[in-house]
Amino acid sequence: MEKQEGKQELRINRRNFLKAGAASAISMGVLGMTNALPVQAAETVSNSGGQSKLHPTNYGMASVKMADFNDQWLGTTKIVGPIKRFHEANQGFNLVFRHKVSEAAFKANLYYHAASKYPLGDALAKFTLSLAPMVSGKPAPEKLAIPDPEQMSQHIKDCAYFLRADEVGIGKMPSFAYYEFKAPPLEDMMKDDLSKSVPVTENLPYVIVVMVDQHLETLMASTGYDGISGSQSFRSYHATAVISVILANYIRNLGYNARAHHFSNYALILAPCMVSAGMGEMTRTGDCMAHPTLGFRTKAAAVTTDLPLAPDRPIDFGAQDFCRVCKKCADNCPSGAITQDEDYIEKNGILRWQTDIKKCVEFRVTNKEGSMCGLCMKVCPWNSKEDSWFHQAGTFIGSKGETASNLLKQVDDMFGYGTEQVEKFKWWLEWPERY
Ligand code: SF4
Ligand code: SF4
Repeated sequence: MEKQEGKQELRINRRNFLKAGAASAISMGVLGMTNALPVQAAETVSNSGGQSKLHPTNYGMASVKMADFNDQWLGTTKIVGPIKRFHEANQGFNLVFRHKVSEAAFKANLYYHAASKYPLGDALAKFTLSLAPMVSGKPAPEKLAIPDPEQMSQHIKDCAYFLRADEVGIGKMPSFAYYEFKAPPLEDMMKDDLSKSVPVTENLPYVIVVMVDQHLETLMASTGYDGISGSQSFRSYHATAVISVILANYIRNLGYNARAHHFSNYALILAPCMVSAGMGEMTRTGDCMAHPTLGFRTKAAAVTTDLPLAPDRPIDFGAQDFCRVCKKCADNCPSGAITQDEDYIEKNGILRWQTDIKKCVEFRVTNKEGSMCGLCMKVCPWNSKEDSWFHQAGTFIGSKGETASNLLKQVDDMFGYGTEQVEKFKWWLEWPERY
């Protein structure tokens, strides 16, 4: 993909802007919008589940309101009809194995399997795959009494942070998020034979979601689809897998049912679980959920359980209004997978933007300039780029509705946020011969 040299001329030098500060801001009409900027965003409220002692809720300066999860709403996502549960064989990389994308993608996926063509990505992926069998087990025969579910929620969050999670939330488990079937063995999928698919029968009431950052500096230095891209995913996949396996083991030791769901062995779709657990809102990308400070620069794993817990509520920080005018991910996506549509369309009972998953996965597995892709994640303005007053102000403005979103998006573009490559952070070796 060609670098967007032309944009460079339009960009403003960020360091000079931050030095000049108010004068430049006034000339762009930004400062007027920040007059209302409080020291701490006034509308930010604590979520309802237990508050961690180690990591109190931090939404940066985003203005966050609590939303609901009921028959009609999953946070800010509208439910308009019955939702059919998902067959794991229809997940993007499985569609490639089933010859539903292209033969070029099939061959690339088979021989290199996603991140594995880059040596570090391969090391991380192999370790993560080794955790596939470690998701479930029998609970201890005696249940620990839990008189205070809120205190237990706080404790579970503290455990996850102790185990090095970056964000944790607890939600009511959306029953429609469970897969209907687990995919059959790989050799059957390659013949598109789904007869050995296994029904998912679990139905536990709560879901604990843990997220780990894919690493800001690495993303700032990367093109978003070069050699390190797959390793960034697996930095977070392997870490969240470890945390979820240990948490599930711990909960079973307390006498309750618990199943870990991680990269190598899911029985659910993560995005609705993340929304239910108050970790963000659905976005234009269709499948990715944005967090107020991390954007979707994370990977997640989950633990479903019947441990008595006090679930968090979904959050609303204006991300969907922002997506309506932003479109940076769609403008920059090298495969054209992300829609430019103004508004959502209904699919499987949910109003959401639709991504062409086949285009995305084909680009990722056949990418000749690197391993995989995360360019949409890199350019998204919710992915905090720096701890400056301007970015904090931008976060506050961006969570305030469509008009403000348009202005913020223009300023974000002028700075070249998300499309720059910061050379001083480039620490990895490209190994281009592996592509
Ligand atoms: S991962 Fe890359 S190809 Fe896929 S939607 Fe994002 S930018 Fe597009
Ligand atoms: S880049 Fe813009 S449109 Fe895309 S997910 Fe992020 S905020 Fe939404």
